[in-house]
Amino acid sequence: MKSANQLNRTELPTVMDSLVEFLMVTRTDGEGLITYTNHNFLASSNWTPKRILGKSFWQMFSEDEHNQAQAHAIWNRVSNGKSWFGKVEKMTRHGEPYFVQMMAIPTMDANGTLESSTFLELDVTEEVKLKEKLQQIAFIDFETGLMSRHKLETLVNDYIEEGRHFSFVYIAIDHYYTLKDLQSYDSESVLIQEFTNRLKRYFQGDAIARVGVSQFVVLTSFGDWFVQGFLQFLKEQPIYVENHSLPLSVSGGIVRFPEDQQTYSHLYKAALTATKSIIELGGGRISSLSAESHKDLNRRSLIDKKMLTALDHRNLQVVYQPQLDIATGKVLVYEALVRWEDEEIGPIQPDELIPIAEENGLIHAIGAFVIEEAATLAMKLMTDKPDVRISVNTSVREFGDSSQMKEKLTSILERTKCPPHKIEFEITEKFAFQAEQEQAIVNQMKVLEDEGIQFILDDFGTGYASFRYMQQLPISKVKIDKVFINSLLTMPKTRQLVEGMILFGKSMGQYIIAEGVETEEQFEALKEMGIDAVQGYYIGGPVNGDEIT
Ligand code: C2E
Ligand code: CA
Ligand code: CA
Repeated sequence: MKSANQLNRTELPTVMDSLVEFLMVTRTDGEGLITYTNHNFLASSNWTPKRILGKSFWQMFSEDEHNQAQAHAIWNRVSNGKSWFGKVEKMTRHGEPYFVQMMAIPTMDANGTLESSTFLELDVTEEVKLKEKLQQIAFIDFETGLMSRHKLETLVNDYIEEGRHFSFVYIAIDHYYTLKDLQSYDSESVLIQEFTNRLKRYFQGDAIARVGVSQFVVLTSFGDWFVQGFLQFLKEQPIYVENHSLPLSVSGGIVRFPEDQQTYSHLYKAALTATKSIIELGGGRISSLSAESHKDLNRRSLIDKKMLTALDHRNLQVVYQPQLDIATGKVLVYEALVRWEDEEIGPIQPDELIPIAEENGLIHAIGAFVIEEAATLAMKLMTDKPDVRISVNTSVREFGDSSQMKEKLTSILERTKCPPHKIEFEITEKFAFQAEQEQAIVNQMKVLEDEGIQFILDDFGTGYASFRYMQQLPISKVKIDKVFINSLLTMPKTRQLVEGMILFGKSMGQYIIAEGVETEEQFEALKEMGIDAVQGYYIGGPVNGDEIT
C-alpha cells in the first residue's frame, strides 16, 4: 500500500530525490499549509501522512512566543521571496521539542506571489542537547561567554543565602525577530555579541547571564535609576551591523531581593512578568512592578500551590444559576459555576481560578469535578423537575488531544447514570477560535452532539468572528454576552446590535439566551425582541444545589 507521502514524492524535482535520503523535506502551499512531507520528516516528528497534510507550517513549531515569533519571521521572509537559513526548535506531534538546521526556499509565481515553499531540514537535536549539557557543566553560554541560566540560579541562591540585597533585572531586546529579519543570518551573532559588550561595559562588575536567545539577566546592587540609564547608554553607543547602526531598544523588569520576592523562581517570574507588561505597552522601558502587582503575583502562586489540595479535599463547590425559558415561563436550565473559598486566601472567583488551572493542568480535574456534580444534581432533579438540564462551562484544554473530553464525560455519565441530554456544554468564543483550527476538537464536539450533548456559544459577540462560529461549529444555542445587556437601554447602537443578533441567530435555527439581565426594563425589552431565554440577577443569582431540590 502506498502512503500519501510516497504518492506525492513523484512531484518533487529529481535533484531533491538524492537529498531526501538524509534530509527532512516538507513543502507548503503559498498559504503555509503542508502539501508534502518525506519519510524522514514523518519519522522525526511522529506525524502520520494522513494527519500532517493540510496542517499549517506554524503548527510544527512549539507554542511558546519565542518559537512562534521565529516561525513568523521565517514565513515573512519566504513570503517575500527570500530564502532563510538557521536553527529552529520544532515540536513533534506529541509536543516534544526537537531541533533542526533549516533551509527555507520559496517558489514564486509569475506575479511575484508565493506559490509554494520547500523546507530542507537536518536533525541536530543530539548536538543541541550535547551543547546544553556542556553549557550546564561549564556554567557558561558559549556564544557570549556570559553565565548560563543554570549558573544564574546557583549564584542567586548563593546571594540569597548570604543575605545580600540586590536587584534582579530581566532585559529583552525589543522586536528581535523583526530586527533580525532585516539582516542576513550572520548579523544575528554580531548583534548578540555587540549587545553583550554593551551590557558588560555598562554593568561592570555585575553578574550577567544570557537566559534566552535575546534575553539577559543582570544582578546588581545599583538602584532603578542606574539600571534605567542603560537605555540611554544604548542610544549613545549604537550597534553597527553591516555598516549601519541598528535602532535598538530593550524592555526590562526590575525585582528586588529581599523586598519584592524571596526565591529564585519568584524573582525570575516577577521580572519576566514586569518585562512582558512593558512589551505589551510598546516596549522601550525598564521598570519595576508596583507593590500591588507583587501582591497579585504572590496570590497567584499561592492559589496555584493550594489548588491540588483543594481538589483532593473536595473544597471546591458548584453553584447553579437559573435560566428562564420565555415560551414556557419555566426555568429549564441551570448553569453550573465553580466556587472556591480557602481559609487563608478567602474566596477565589472562577475568573481568577480557571486561567491558573489551565496553566497548571488542573483544569481537567476541575472540569471533571464540575461535570460530576452537575450530573449528580441532574439525576436528583429527574423526578421533581424532569425538564431541567444543567449547563457546564468548558475550557478548550479539557478537550485534549483526540477523545479526552468524550472519555471523561462517558465515564462520569456511566457512574452517575445521568443521560447525556441532561448536560449542556458552554464554550466561549476564545474556545471556538481554537476549535475551528483544531479539527480534532470539532470532531469530538460532533460525536458528543450525536450522543445528545448540546453546545452553547457563550459570551457571544465579544470575539471577532462570532457569526462565523455560529455557522461552523455544532452549536444549538447562543448566549449574548452581558456587556451588551449592560448598555442595552443606554446605547441605541447596542439595542440595534442585540436585535440583529437575535434575528440572525433565530434565522439560523438557534435558541438565543441573554445573560446578565439585572432589571425589569432589560427583561421586558429583550422579551419584546424575541429572546428565547434570560439569565441574570433579575431572574436569580447562583444558588446551592440543595436549594433547587
Ligand atoms: P460566564 O460563563 O459568562 O458566567 C457568568 C458569570 O456572570 C458568572 O460569574 C455569574 O455569577 C455572573 N453573573 C450572573 N448573573 C449576572 C448578572 O445579572 N449581572 C452580572 N454582572 N453578572 C452576573 P462567575 O461565576 O464568577 O464566573 C465567571 C466565569 O468563569 C464564567 O463566565 C465562566 O466563563 C467561568 N467559569 C465558571 N465556572 C466554570 C467552570 O466550572 N469551568 C470553566 N471552564 N469555566 C468556568
Ligand atoms: Ca457560561
Ligand atoms: Ca458568559
